[in-house]
Amino acid sequence: MSDCIFCKIAAGEIPATVVFENDDVIAFEDLNPQAPVHVLVVPKAHHANILDGVSAAELAAVVEAIGEVARAKGLSERGFRVIANTGADAGQTVEHLHFHVLGGTTLGEGLIP
Ligand code: AMP
Ligand code: ZN
Repeated sequence: MSDCIFCKIAAGEIPATVVFENDDVIAFEDLNPQAPVHVLVVPKAHHANILDGVSAAELAAVVEAIGEVARAKGLSERGFRVIANTGADAGQTVEHLHFHVLGGTTLGEGLIP
């Protein structure tokens, strides 16, 4: 989608600090981190959110990428949180499906992006 910021990051048209990437998924540092580790895991194909026609194969690729990010960021042992804000009540601000991976500290209930 031409005016979508995460499509542009996936296409390499605007910069991001990439943590992991393959053909299907890109993971990069959140610009406004809410925890010591805050990475966004993003399927490259455009879906507005988790309700917008995402396939099981795409979700499997996301889960695999979350594992890669957790290992790369040293989160595997202590744990981390994964959040996909969906729609207005959740405060979704970027209308391209993404999964926040948060960790690197003990996460309180307030640490919800
Ligand atoms: P959400 O509120 O769940 O839609 O989350 C959108 C997230 O995208 C926020 O945490 C923003 O800080 C982050 N964000 C927005 N633009 C960028 C960008 N260009 N690079 C990295 N993260 C971004
Ligand atoms: Zn998009």
